[in-house]
Amino acid sequence: MPAHRCTTTKARLAKVYRSAARQIAEGGDLMEGLAGAANSLTTLLDALHRLAHAVGLDSAAPWRRLNSWAAFTDRRAAVIALHALADELGPVRLPPGYLTVNPARHDPIDFAHILALTTSGGKDSVVMEDVVCTRAAGQKALHKVVAIHNDLGTTGPQFSNLPVEWSGTTELARRQSARYGIRFEVTRRTGGGLFDQLLNQRKKFPSSAARWCTSDQKTNEGMKRVRHHARTARQQGVDHVIVYYLVGIRAEESSGRARKSEFVIDRAQSTRTRTVIRWHPLLDWSERRVWQHIRDRDLEYHPAYDAGMERLSCRLCVLATRADLVCAARLSPELTADYASAEQQLGHRFKKDLSIREIQDEAQRLGPITGVVPGAAIERHLSADTAPGPQPTGCSA
Ligand code: SF4
Repeated sequence: MPAHRCTTTKARLAKVYRSAARQIAEGGDLMEGLAGAANSLTTLLDALHRLAHAVGLDSAAPWRRLNSWAAFTDRRAAVIALHALADELGPVRLPPGYLTVNPARHDPIDFAHILALTTSGGKDSVVMEDVVCTRAAGQKALHKVVAIHNDLGTTGPQFSNLPVEWSGTTELARRQSARYGIRFEVTRRTGGGLFDQLLNQRKKFPSSAARWCTSDQKTNEGMKRVRHHARTARQQGVDHVIVYYLVGIRAEESSGRARKSEFVIDRAQSTRTRTVIRWHPLLDWSERRVWQHIRDRDLEYHPAYDAGMERLSCRLCVLATRADLVCAARLSPELTADYASAEQQLGHRFKKDLSIREIQDEAQRLGPITGVVPGAAIERHLSADTAPGPQPTGCSA
C-alpha cells in the first residue's frame, strides 16, 4: 500500500465505508458512493487507498479500473471489505440481504424463489416477459414466474366510466402471459382506482415530481403480491425468500432511468426473512431492438401502437409527449372529455405547461384517426431511415 497521509477521523472514515458499501450493494457506483460520503479529497483518497489495500489491488491502478472492478466483477468482495474496514473503526450492523445476494454473481433465474414480473401489456413488458420466460423455460424455472398486471380502474359513473388504460389491455396482458403458461394476477387498489384517487383524494394530477399514480396504483399493489408470495414460500419451508421484482424500464427513456442499475436491492421491502431485488432486464435495450424482438418472436402487441402511440398503460399519461397525448385524444375523445371535466372540476392543469383542453382542441382540429394498418408500428420503427425520436416515458408495469 503506497504511503499516504491519514488526516481523517476514524468516525468519518467508517461512515464513508458504510455509505459506499450500501451504494455498491444496491447496484450503485463505487466512486459515487465514496465521493458522496467523503467530504474532502483527502478523505476520498484515504478511503480508496484503504479499500484497494483491503481487497488486494494495487492502489496505483487507475480509479476507473478500481471502480469497474468493484461495480461489475466482485461487488460482494467490495461490500465485505468496506464493512470490514468500517468494523475496524466501529461495529456495523449489516442491512438484511446485503451479504447473501450478489446480483453480479448469482443467476437470477436460479437464485430466485419468486420472479414477480410486472406487466402493463405494453411493448417493453411483452418483450421482457418473452426474454425472461424463455430463459426460465430453458432452466425449468417457469413455475417461479408470476406476471402481475395493475388495473387502474375507470373514470367512474359520474363521467363516462371508461377504462383509464387502453381498452382490452388486461386481456392482452393475460394472453401474453398465457403463451408461457405462467401465473397471471390482476391487482386493483382497494382504496379506489386512479381517477377516483385523483378526484377524491389527491385532487391534483400526478407529475414527474409527484408520481403518486405509479407508487400508489402500481408499485404498492405489486409489492402486496410480492409479500403474499414470500409468505407462502415461507410457509412451504423456505427460510429466506429471494424475490426478484422485474420492471421493463430502459435507460434511453430518461436520464433518471439511465442512472439506474440492472439490479438494485430494495431495502424498504427486504426483511430478515425476505430479500427483494429489483431487476430491470431491458435496461440497455434500445426501442428499435424492442420492436425487432417483437417482430422476430411474433409477439402480440396492442393496436394503439399501430394507430400511432409510442407507449401504452394510461391512455392519457402525465409523462407522455405532446404528440402521444394528441394521438391518444384523437383515438379516445370521450375519455379526453372526462379528463377535461376533471381538470375543470379540480382547477388544476393536467401538466404544468399543457392542459387537456389544449390537447382536446388540437385533437378536434386534426380529427379522428381512421384506417389503422396492422403492423404499422413495426414498420414505423424498423424501416431503415427511421431515426430515434423523443423517448416517451411513463410506467412500464
Ligand atoms: S402511465 Fe403515466 S399517468 Fe398512468 S400511472 Fe403511469 S406515470 Fe402515471
